[in-house]
Amino acid sequence: MKPAPFTYHRASSVTGAVALLGELAEEEPKILAGGQSLVAMMNYRMARPGHLVDITHVPGLAGIRRDGGALRIGALTTHRDVEKADLGPDFAVLSRTMRWVGHLPIRTRGTVGGSIAHADATAEWCLLAVLLDAVIVVEGPAGRRDVAAGGFFLGPFTTALEPDEVIVEIVFPRPAPRAALTEYADRRGDFAVVAAGVDLDTESVVLGGVGSVPVAVRPAGSPGEVADGLDLRDEPGVPASYRRGLVRTLVARAREEVPDA
Ligand SMILES: Cc1cc2nc3c(=O)[nH]c(=O)nc-3n(C[C@H](O)[C@H](O)[C@H](O)COP(=O)(O)OP(=O)(O)OC[C@H]3O[C@@H](n4cnc5c(N)ncnc54)[C@H](O)[C@@H]3O)c2cc1C
Repeated sequence: MKPAPFTYHRASSVTGAVALLGELAEEEPKILAGGQSLVAMMNYRMARPGHLVDITHVPGLAGIRRDGGALRIGALTTHRDVEKADLGPDFAVLSRTMRWVGHLPIRTRGTVGGSIAHADATAEWCLLAVLLDAVIVVEGPAGRRDVAAGGFFLGPFTTALEPDEVIVEIVFPRPAPRAALTEYADRRGDFAVVAAGVDLDTESVVLGGVGSVPVAVRPAGSPGEVADGLDLRDEPGVPASYRRGLVRTLVARAREEVPDA
C-alpha cells in the first residue's frame, strides 16, 4: 500500500513547525519525526494527514544532557542514541530498556518524542516516562508548558498534546538507579504482550498491555498482589488468566533485574 496524497513541509524551527500546524489545521497536518509509526499507518491508510511537517532538520531537538540530578532527552533523540549512551548508573535503565524497542533499524530512526506522542500503551518510552515521573515539555502557539507523564496518556494513541503542539523534550527528574523494565512479546522485536517496569526506590510498578494507557501501581505489593489487583478481560488469543500470569512473572523478573537489588 502507498499513502494517500499529502504535502510535505520541512520545518527549520519549532516555532515554524507550530505555526504550520496552526495554519494547516483544517487539513489534518502531522509532525513527521522518525516515521517508524506514522509512515506505516499512512501506508495502511490508518492515517491520512493532508500535510506532513518534518521536524528532523530542526536544530537543537536531539541530544541527552544532565541537568543537576535530572536527565533531559531531546524529542528527536533516537532510541539507538539512548541505547548507546553512557548514562551512568543513575539512568542506565533507559539504555538497558532500549533493547526491547523493535529491531535495530527501527531504533536507529525512531525517536523518543515520536514514541511518546504516538502513545502506544506498551511502548517502552511511555512506560518509562510514567514509571519515573517524567515531564513532557511541549511547545505551542502560547509558548512552552510542562505536562507530567502521569497525566499525558489519555487513552489508546491519545495524549494531552494539542494538535498545534510539538514535544520538544522529555525530562527524567531524578536518578533511578534501582529501576528495571522487562517484557514478553510473541516474537523478538514485536510490541510486548505484557511489559513490567519497577522502581524499587519509589515502590512503583508500571505495566503495559493491561489497559489502554500505561498502568502505574504504587505503592506496589508483591508480584501476585499486583497481578491480582488488575481488572483484566479475556481477549482473542490472550485469556485474562494468561495475561495475569505474565504480569506476576514479569514484575518478579523486573525486580530481579534491578542492579544490586
Ligand atoms: C516493526 C516495528 C516494530 C516496532 N516495535 C516497537 C516496540 O517494540 N516498542 C516501541 O516503543 N515502538 C516500536 N515501534 C515504533 C517505534 O518505536 C517508533 O519509532 C515510535 O513509535 C515513533 O517514533 P517516530 O520518531 O518514528 O515517530 P513518527 O512515526 O514520525 O510519528 C509518530 C507519531 O508521533 C507524532 N510525533 C512525532 N514526533 C513528535 C513530536 N516531537 N511532537 C509531537 N508529535 C510528534 C507524529 O505526528 C505521529 O503522530 C515499532 C515500529 C515498527 C515499524
